[in-house]
Amino acid sequence: MVQPMDTGYMSKISDKLKAVQENINAACAKASRNPREICLIVVSKSATLEAVKEAVDLGFLDLGENHVQQLKRVSGEIEEFYTSNGQESPAIRWHMIGHLQRNKVRQVLPKAHLIHSVDTLRLAEEINGGAAKLGRKTNILLQVNTSNEPQKYGVPVGAATHLAEQIETLPHVCLKGLMTMAPLTRNKDVVRACFARARELFIEMRGERIVGPQFTELSMGMSSDYPIAIEEGATILRIGSAIFAG
Ligand SMILES: *Cc1c(COP(=O)(O)O)cnc(C)c1O
Repeated sequence: MVQPMDTGYMSKISDKLKAVQENINAACAKASRNPREICLIVVSKSATLEAVKEAVDLGFLDLGENHVQQLKRVSGEIEEFYTSNGQESPAIRWHMIGHLQRNKVRQVLPKAHLIHSVDTLRLAEEINGGAAKLGRKTNILLQVNTSNEPQKYGVPVGAATHLAEQIETLPHVCLKGLMTMAPLTRNKDVVRACFARARELFIEMRGERIVGPQFTELSMGMSSDYPIAIEEGATILRIGSAIFAG
């Protein structure tokens, strides 16, 4: 016999999602923003399949993974779950949010709704070539290193405009905006300064028409810092542990 679902665990996910949404609404109110401008990506990397399905069943269809293998595995398992139950698989949008190696591009392209982590021309060209072979365009964000930590991925702020200009010439990628990560620190001023730097760069690129009208997204804010990211103009949040941990 099938074991009954552990409802305590199930409701915990929905409680946490509700709490995150309330925090998003509060940060939006503080910043005079409309919560509908903000897309919440549920980062499934730390979660069990049951927990991810719970989020999907609640209508959270933007899911993020930071490794190609993990994205392929989890997306396959979820699809399998629904189709094997005779249900239509929900229209999940998969976001590749972690560092992407060029030799993994072909594997991730068929699944990825948006690749957040493009930080070199060579990677953008690889995506462009792969998307051309699939006969479509791939949505990407330019990841910017706003914290100046040497170990972090992302193009330096001073080189971002030139790289965006080059990427804009590639016919099979659609450059939708910027992504950044703040350093892991309790110092909120440091976090806010990173997000503010990304927002300034975003506004500058749009203002100087280095990018086209499709350049509308600012992906920043994780479990520890998303209210600050909202205040600084984030349009996409990437949240995992606040939903799935503990
Ligand atoms: C894991 C991860 C997140 C989510 O982080 P949490 O602190 O668990 O919310 C967001 N962005 C990237 C790039 C990640 O790798």
